[in-house]
Amino acid sequence: MISVSEAFLIVQENLPTPMKEIVDLNNAYSRYLAEDILAPEPSPRYTNSAMDGYAVRWEDVKSTSSEKPITLSIAGESQAGIPFSKSVNRGEAARISTGAALPDGVDTVIRVEDTQELDNSVQILSVREQGQDVRYQGEEFQTGELLLSKGIQLSTRQLAMLGAVGIQNFNVFSTPKVSIIVTGTELVTSDDKDIKPFQIRDSNKVMLTSATREAGGKVISCEHIGDSLENTREMLEIVTDKEPDFILCSGGVSVGRHDHVKKAAEKAGFTELFWRIRQKPGKPLFAARRENILLFGLPGNPVSAFMCFTHYVRPIIAHMHGQSMAHKSVTAKTSSGITNHGKRTNFIRVKVEFAHGEVPRITEVGKQGSHMLSSIANADGYIILEPGEILTPDSLKEVFLF
Ligand code: AMP
Ligand code: MG
Repeated sequence: MISVSEAFLIVQENLPTPMKEIVDLNNAYSRYLAEDILAPEPSPRYTNSAMDGYAVRWEDVKSTSSEKPITLSIAGESQAGIPFSKSVNRGEAARISTGAALPDGVDTVIRVEDTQELDNSVQILSVREQGQDVRYQGEEFQTGELLLSKGIQLSTRQLAMLGAVGIQNFNVFSTPKVSIIVTGTELVTSDDKDIKPFQIRDSNKVMLTSATREAGGKVISCEHIGDSLENTREMLEIVTDKEPDFILCSGGVSVGRHDHVKKAAEKAGFTELFWRIRQKPGKPLFAARRENILLFGLPGNPVSAFMCFTHYVRPIIAHMHGQSMAHKSVTAKTSSGITNHGKRTNFIRVKVEFAHGEVPRITEVGKQGSHMLSSIANADGYIILEPGEILTPDSLKEVFLF
């Protein structure tokens, strides 16, 4: 049996190479950029008005005061989308709307509220400074400046910016493909109406499918098989042909007479990376590789399967998106004492309470059995406690967040 850190190291030595693909802006939500994006044009694209009002020459209006308003004749209009085609001369103003191009000859905008329009002329009632309410070409960024860095996850805000500068196609990291094989003769589908007293509803299927999506992977197949060596080998060969990046098996990986995943994987051409980790839950975890395909034989106990996915598989998916493999964590204070009396590293599920301006507090979830899904459903993360480690109340401890 190996330690948690040894297992993680073996994972790190067997990382798949992140792949890229070109995606269209409209299909890029939640993907991870695989290239730096440089501005193909400046922003704003052209010098324009920040307000509805009048575009004027500062020279003409600078002496304005409430006692002495200045009157300018209206030369025309610059509308958003329809620029003023001529130049504004001395003693003139052009009506202008927000976002409309600043006409030649002017350098300042007077907002409507500071004016009084008369017949074909406008009275300027107050001014602040030269260039007021003008948005200059390139004041946000110039052509060639870095807009978004490689590795960033594209959400609403980044997509809007790409749309604003007309970038339609770009490189993102390819979504890792995951095949799931759920083993167990005792399993029926979760909605089975005729479930027998000795049968179990399959919860790992929905859990692993959802965990894969949450991590940024795509489930390309999901099958259930009974506990048979031959069926398991055959199914492994079928899904291997689909060229997934990962095969996640659930169950059948311990030392029972009907646990066939390990042997079947070897028969299907996979080479073992490790089997069994000194940890609780999740001891039977099996990892193997065939060329570029990583296989994880997750324990059948739902909590064990989830913890193994979270601690070992999710970071690999993050790596394939150009992300760090580090588990997201916060430092928190224990509410009560927690001790590991056992011989294995414990992944203890905890609830985390965040209070404004305070160190977050953690409370151990009461029932920690590896078959007790309430221990993850009602938790926010886990702490890792080594054998013999004792946490007194108010100890600071790193919590890995789900
Ligand atoms: P195994 O690792 O196959 O020995 O299974 C360990 C325990 O997890 C057994 O109690 C199984 O019934 C249970 N189990 C296995 N697979 C699933 C599953 N897909 N959903 C829920 N429980 C499961
Ligand atoms: Mg089983």
